[in-house]
Amino acid sequence: MPQLGFGVFQVPDDETAAAVTHALEAGYRSVDTAAIYGNETGVGRALAASGIPRDELFVTTKLWNADQGYDSTLRAFDDSLAKLGLDHVDLYLIHWPTPARDLYVDTWKAVETLVADGRVRTAGVSNFQPAHLQRLLDSSDLVPAVNQIELHPALQQRELRELHAVHSIATEAWSPLAQGAVLADPVIAAIAARHGKSAAQVVLRWHLQLGNVVIPKSVTPGRIRENIDVFDPEFVLSDAEMRSIERLDRGLRTGPDPDTLN
Ligand code: NDP
Repeated sequence: MPQLGFGVFQVPDDETAAAVTHALEAGYRSVDTAAIYGNETGVGRALAASGIPRDELFVTTKLWNADQGYDSTLRAFDDSLAKLGLDHVDLYLIHWPTPARDLYVDTWKAVETLVADGRVRTAGVSNFQPAHLQRLLDSSDLVPAVNQIELHPALQQRELRELHAVHSIATEAWSPLAQGAVLADPVIAAIAARHGKSAAQVVLRWHLQLGNVVIPKSVTPGRIRENIDVFDPEFVLSDAEMRSIERLDRGLRTGPDPDTLN
């Protein structure tokens, strides 16, 4: 799985093919969509038009909450695959645990079936809190390969990152830029000025050095290119810079709380 991919949340379907095409041209090979985003068709169109061999692409989509349950998951997956125009996805995620509905264990059994069929290469979850992860680990031999969670300098998710490390679960950061909310921070701005980089590049570099997978979203071609331009060997944050960003954690959620979203 590429450590840096392209997110398409809130991109209208008819603008998605253009955004994904810009991203593929800039060098991204991993795209993160979801059934609920309503843009799997646009993603699929851009992938097909790119001519990039399928085995060089990494495509993630997610099962929406209303479709949790064994049979409904299988149906929803078929629908996503048809919209994407693919015969498999590289990563399939349960989008939210919706704990009060108590369906995620059954849903995971359906994901196991899709993995056994070869139509899902890798199975993961999203927005799972420690208790939800533990329940899956206790009920199935299939360990989620990924937990995609809200994570950025203002919400650093230390407890989950430590639990992921114990179980070799990759931490994937959604809203890695906090939808822009951390980009004006003076600590980040000072580090950016020191390196001659943008605030977004500093935040993405911080994620990469922590070991997070990141999927920044942009519909702006210049930003799409800027966000992947973070692998220059000269561009490394020092331990002191990493620690100064660590101090910016203030438990800020920009999205819903996974314990109460049902
Ligand atoms: P991001 O943290 O990626 O921020 C996106 C916002 O930042 C957009 O407004 C974009 O503007 C702006 N932006 C992007 N790059 C730059 C830059 N270099 N400089 C300044 N501004 C910039 O937020 P998202 O919420 O989109 O999260 C990323 C992805 O994570 C989503 O697209 C989706 O794939 C996934 N996600 C998953 C969730 C889940 O529940 N599993 C929930 C939310 C997101 P513009 O586009 O106008 O350029």
